[in-house]
Amino acid sequence: MITSVSAGALTVRGVSVGGVYTALAVPELSLGFDVGMPLRSLAGIDTLLLSHAHADHVGALGAFLGLRALHGRTTPLRVVLPAETAAPLQNALAALSELQRWPLEIAPVPMHGGDRVALRGDLEVRAYKTFHPVPSLAYLLVRKVAKLRPELHGLPGPEIARRRKAGEDINHYEDRPVLAYVTDTLVTIYDHHPELLRCPVLITECTFLDERKSLAAARAGCHIHLDELLERAHLLQSEHIVLMHFSQLYSPREIPGILDRRIPPALRAKVIPFAPAAEGWPG
Ligand SMILES: [Zn+2]
Ligand SMILES: [Zn+2]
Repeated sequence: MITSVSAGALTVRGVSVGGVYTALAVPELSLGFDVGMPLRSLAGIDTLLLSHAHADHVGALGAFLGLRALHGRTTPLRVVLPAETAAPLQNALAALSELQRWPLEIAPVPMHGGDRVALRGDLEVRAYKTFHPVPSLAYLLVRKVAKLRPELHGLPGPEIARRRKAGEDINHYEDRPVLAYVTDTLVTIYDHHPELLRCPVLITECTFLDERKSLAAARAGCHIHLDELLERAHLLQSEHIVLMHFSQLYSPREIPGILDRRIPPALRAKVIPFAPAAEGWPG
């Protein structure tokens, strides 16, 4: 029932159906994205990033924290989330803790659009304000890669070592985008931040795929229609594009065929539908 796809060097594992559940793990980065279902596959992550607090994205947090404890993870889970969401979520967890007489704790990292936070060593997360009826964020994961400062190129090794020892910062740091996660938003996010469309791996919602949902209706619900991504195909430079959060209007089996029919071949080759090879959606 779990879907697992490869997107370059990364694996994306989990479940996602628009309005029902979205919970993904990217094990290579030890990150989870949303928790609409308490997946065992997420138990190993060290940080959870929440796009927003609609129940199909956050509703299983309590069960997931319990599951994580069963796996011996006793430190509070670090949860990156829209800042406005932190207090009500803590209140909800306090109520759940009271109900089950067991503390469900998180270590919240509240973010606003434009904020950056170092997650570990060389990995940073950047938040982008998205467009949805509740506070919501997209995330870009960026690796900071150390490079020798250009003016030091050509110096002998011992001289570089001497300077490093003397406390000089011999490096500058290049940003290398690794993964973008964009869901539950109007497509406008990509007009404000086209750099998200250039991230090597892009996980993006594409809730509606054809005429079964009009563009106007998709926009009224603050979701993305495939027509809108196709309009921006020339900007879509990502090498691996994971489409997810499909509406239940579509059965998982028919989705690859719809994408084959609608997406130009060069772009289609980069698109990975996040759907199980099954007749129906899990659950
Ligand atoms: Zn959703
Ligand atoms: Zn939503």
